[in-house]
Amino acid sequence: MFSKILIANRGEIALRIIRSAKELGLKTVAVYSEPDRNSLHTMLADEKVCIGPAKAAESYLNIPNILSAAEITKADAIHPGYGFLAENPRFAEICETSGITFIGPSAEVMSIMGDKSRARQEMKKAKLPVTPGSDEVIADIDDAKKTAKKIKYPVILKAASGGGGKGMRIVRTPSALEGQFSIAQYEAKAAFGDPSLYMEKYIESARHIEIQVIRDSHGNSLAFGERECSIQRKHQKVIEETPSPFIDEKTRRRIAKAVEDATSFIDYQSLGTFEFLVDDQKNFYFMETNTRVQVEHPITEMVYGIDLIREQIRLAAGERLSPIHDFRMRGHSLECRINAEDAETFIPSPGKIEFLVLPGGQGIRVDTAAYQGWVIPPDYDSLIAKIVAVAPTRREVIDKMRTALEMTTIVGIKTNIPLHINILSNSDFKKGRYDIQFLENLLEKQVKKRRT
Ligand code: ADP
Repeated sequence: MFSKILIANRGEIALRIIRSAKELGLKTVAVYSEPDRNSLHTMLADEKVCIGPAKAAESYLNIPNILSAAEITKADAIHPGYGFLAENPRFAEICETSGITFIGPSAEVMSIMGDKSRARQEMKKAKLPVTPGSDEVIADIDDAKKTAKKIKYPVILKAASGGGGKGMRIVRTPSALEGQFSIAQYEAKAAFGDPSLYMEKYIESARHIEIQVIRDSHGNSLAFGERECSIQRKHQKVIEETPSPFIDEKTRRRIAKAVEDATSFIDYQSLGTFEFLVDDQKNFYFMETNTRVQVEHPITEMVYGIDLIREQIRLAAGERLSPIHDFRMRGHSLECRINAEDAETFIPSPGKIEFLVLPGGQGIRVDTAAYQGWVIPPDYDSLIAKIVAVAPTRREVIDKMRTALEMTTIVGIKTNIPLHINILSNSDFKKGRYDIQFLENLLEKQVKKRRT
């Protein structure tokens, strides 16, 4: 086992990792940018090192500074969290060559799965169904036209190096293709430094279903029950739940088996998530693999009673998966992502938290780095807390979550809590009747109503 872990991240996920590391008896090192000097993760880790100014490119993405911090503090492993360098195979490789364990899969697997177009090809070989689409990156507009004609409109253009819902364009008619193709290329280049695009059939009324998987270096793997992440805005998840109200036991087993087979095929070692679109006929199509811990991992932890980050750290040290007695989901769990933003305009709302009351009680878990008096810097993601609830049934967990949100007070900044309450009170949501367009449609309807 390691003796000291450096956490190359900030915010709630840095704290989350510190907790599991401490429980395992490991020392922790926090790294931080200048505006994060008073962040909770710097106070709760055993050591802290400043790695640069506010700009992520000069701090949380600054590989030389992070490695120097690891060397100075004699950390023997680095946990990347999510975002920043978490899916950067070059970083993983540099860690390995510096004799520091990168807590995640091998750089080789990361580089295959990080290129969405290559990942599709590889998963096809692993017999995982993928959405109909281009097998290679689209060379030019003529190639795009040919591919779209073959797979039929509507189609979706995606950045090969994409993530976070950026660089995606839905194209419904041939006349719109040329314009959308240039915009998507431009966005992909601006956001990821790589203009490569690929194309998929756009699946209407789909649901986003994902499978958490964990596999050790001895070939033991576990695929957990699905997380339903269809409540999205701008292709970004807002609420997640497990189990999905839409997936039956037979489909659940089928997807889990396909994922376990795919992980063995690529010899995936570590924690990861396979994302799928599921159509109304319950056909599932592979979208991508996230080779890291995900924001929404707590809901799986809540229904399985497992600490996924503890397992991820243990596996990186070469240990075997913990034997799990009676492996099954218990109850229903929901997560609401609380962002510092206006609930109607979605404009970020950084600033000082003047007063803070967080919810609690049976079945409530809050993962956050927020505290009263903390000044949220404008430089990073607006996620400030994850409220997670678990209860025996879906109905009870919705009631529990709504109550928790109503009992939360955050003064000084705006948050999207009203949006969450709005969704949880919706009768279709309550019935489990929703797909990936649900939230955008709901918002559109409400805007129209306000205008009239
Ligand atoms: P990112 O890595 O940027 O998050 P994903 O490939 O995971 O991108 O897709 C994000 C979301 O975009 C999905 O959850 C889904 O809502 C939507 N999406 C992606 N591909 C398709 C598709 N082929 N058809 C319909 N919706 C899609």
